[in-house]
Amino acid sequence: MSAFEWREAPPGDYAVIGDPVAHSLSPAMHAAAYQACGLQLAYHAIRIPEAEFDEAMAWLVELGYRGLNVTLPHKLRAWDWADGTDPARSDLAPRAGANTLNLQSKLAVSTDEAGFMASLSDHEFPRKRALICGAGGTAMALAARLAENGFELKLWNRTPGKWDVFASETNRTEVVPALDPAGCDLILNATSATLQGFDLPVDWARAEPDALAYDVAYGKPSPFLESASKKKLTCQDGLRMLMEQGALSFEWWLGISAPRTDMITVLHERTAANLGDA
Ligand code: NDP
Repeated sequence: MSAFEWREAPPGDYAVIGDPVAHSLSPAMHAAAYQACGLQLAYHAIRIPEAEFDEAMAWLVELGYRGLNVTLPHKLRAWDWADGTDPARSDLAPRAGANTLNLQSKLAVSTDEAGFMASLSDHEFPRKRALICGAGGTAMALAARLAENGFELKLWNRTPGKWDVFASETNRTEVVPALDPAGCDLILNATSATLQGFDLPVDWARAEPDALAYDVAYGKPSPFLESASKKKLTCQDGLRMLMEQGALSFEWWLGISAPRTDMITVLHERTAANLGDA
């Protein structure tokens, strides 16, 4: 795995930046895509501490990087760093910061929301009603995209109050005090609870039998999905969303179709190996 501190980063073409970032699966996923397409490109993981963002960005531009994926804690700074978004890709306009930068054009997009919607394509949602857990940047961005796609939303967060502004500005939303999935065909865990090994207090007995339980986390056992699977619900983790957002970044940078099957295959291999180690 090619992970570097930004001062020690070698020249390259593309990279994911964040802190921490050494665990990222993006280098393996993009390397698989380059290999499948016969591209001689290098993609690295580069750690940038929050306070060193501007200095590091200038250095990566000087090293010749063409594009970056951006993860925590830099998504908002990345959006501020850019001159704007790509007017040709309104579907990728950032809402909660940017996850993809083109360093040559200085444009920013976010592929998370479109990647998430693409990851739902195997499912039907006849009621178009979702229960969303969490109110961080990811939850807000996904909620906005689901609302645009006609979903009615029940919004919950551990710390009350964080959904109030969003709910007051968005039609067909309700902030709820408890995780009651009755009537919902999507139960979305967009918190970071799984990363810490915690479950959420969902009243699974009230879930609809055809509901999809979806956890945006990946690469770790999900207590949320384990609870949902005991109720025989269909379960999905965040791996396909990771692949779809990466594929959209690849396509935005390079202008060619991403080899999605090769990308998801390597992600499954890596996560299976990591879970085996745990
Ligand atoms: P934030 O730090 O912005 O938000 C975290 C949210 O999780 C908050 O609502 C917080 O609640 C809640 N939370 C944290 N711990 C718990 C807990 N133990 N119980 C209940 N709620 C909890 O994170 P992001 O929105 O940026 O990211 C959320 C998740 O999305 C991460 O796991 C990230 O890895 C994943 N992600 C996955 C992607 C993919 O491609 N699959 C893409 C992007 C993100 P409170 O307000 O009370 O603190």
